Amino acid sequence: MVRVRFAPSPTGLLHVGALRTALYNDLFARHHNGKTILRIEDTDRTRFVEGAEQDFIDMCEWAGIKFDEGPTIGGEYGPYRQSERTDLYRQHAELLIERETAYYAFDTAEEIDAMRTRQKAAGIAPKYDRSSMRNQFTLGAEETARLLAEGAEHTVRLFVPLVGETRTTDMVRGESVFANRLIDDQILLKSDGFPTYHLANIVDDHHMNITHVIRGEEWLPSLPKHIIMYEAFGWDPPQFAHLPLILNKDRKKFSKRDGDVSVVDFIEKGYMPEALVNFCALLGWNPSADREIYTYEEMTEAFEIAKVNKSGAIFDYEKLDWMNGMYLRSVPVERIVVDLLPMLKERGQEPSEAYAAAVVTLVRERINFTHEIPDFADYLFGEITEVDEAYREKHWKGETPERVAELAVRLDDLAPVDWTDARIEEVVRGYAEELGVGAGKLIHPIRLTTTGKKVGAGMFETMTVLGQQKTVARMKSFGESQ
Ligand code: GLU
Repeated sequence: MVRVRFAPSPTGLLHVGALRTALYNDLFARHHNGKTILRIEDTDRTRFVEGAEQDFIDMCEWAGIKFDEGPTIGGEYGPYRQSERTDLYRQHAELLIERETAYYAFDTAEEIDAMRTRQKAAGIAPKYDRSSMRNQFTLGAEETARLLAEGAEHTVRLFVPLVGETRTTDMVRGESVFANRLIDDQILLKSDGFPTYHLANIVDDHHMNITHVIRGEEWLPSLPKHIIMYEAFGWDPPQFAHLPLILNKDRKKFSKRDGDVSVVDFIEKGYMPEALVNFCALLGWNPSADREIYTYEEMTEAFEIAKVNKSGAIFDYEKLDWMNGMYLRSVPVERIVVDLLPMLKERGQEPSEAYAAAVVTLVRERINFTHEIPDFADYLFGEITEVDEAYREKHWKGETPERVAELAVRLDDLAPVDWTDARIEEVVRGYAEELGVGAGKLIHPIRLTTTGKKVGAGMFETMTVLGQQKTVARMKSFGESQ
């Protein structure tokens, strides 16, 4: 059975890149009828942010990602917070020491710094120098035992052989070979007794029976180390898939400098979950060259790691906005109304739900966000507050006032049941024909007098929603006010 995990560290609010990782894990698991596990990797206490875990849970729920096991759900393999499993990691560090694939090191931070400075001066890549530092090998068994008994501060490091090579396989990138002499003796247990990410991650993936590790490309350099650790434990590694970097328009890593990157920021900006999820899913994967819009079910059905790209994916805000518009147009109108009513209330406008729904239906083809509606359709929720001057100059001259006045009378004469797009159109076009002018000669002045704006939804539909009384009244009073 496929078992994947989303393993974020609670160091801040959920980043959209992390949302993509969670999403790919979930799509992969669902595609294979497997399970998605949420594991909180909170062993780095210096970077711990209160509330981050709850944010991860809330944001994933908002996005429709459902975990089968996790800190607040439970499950067979918990606990799911690494800080609650530290004994397990310590036991495993000891196991490696017994097998002589890990060792004690007693170097202070200053000694490590001095080593780095020496290496830098000599032009050597930074790497723990087992032969010159203060560790089990250089100090000998007796001194090591004495220091441990004395409670001396120490770390436990992975023993990486100096010879040979390590082969890694990645489902996205294929095979790679690394010379062992270039791989660092990774710290497994820190001096505070907490495991590093590397130890905890591997022990957990093994004990939680994780079959596939799907994570960001930034972890790719750690893969050879991880493979050495699996060998050291004598465990079969899971399969790995490293997802391409997310880049900004300048092809640099998409980061805080590019603006808001937390999922909650996107929610606050009015993005709909379906849009953000669809957009994030296509950051590095698309099952088809000529399609962009997919439901969660369709993505689940189509998801294949083999189709994930190697090259970085550009975070294109324009595309995201367009996608939001696509979803704004396809979800039930009521969903938009629920968000819209409080926005209007803040402006002192309290239309009925039915009226708000009619406005949404009318204007949503032309906007991308719900929060654009109060301004875009202000004349439908309140009176006209401003008239586009250039538009007025162009369309309010000569015979226009007279024609609008006549049209107002004719429209007023329509029976209330006839106040429909079709009947209004008939009246307007009929009058244009009588005059021997194009319908535009009437439609622009109507738009001007009833909305004050050059841009809006279809004029006849707008009039229908605005209602007979208001439409006629505005057409009349505009003329009078000029
Ligand atoms: N805790 C790591 C992170 O936050 C997880 C990396 C992994 O999935 O192995 O990115």
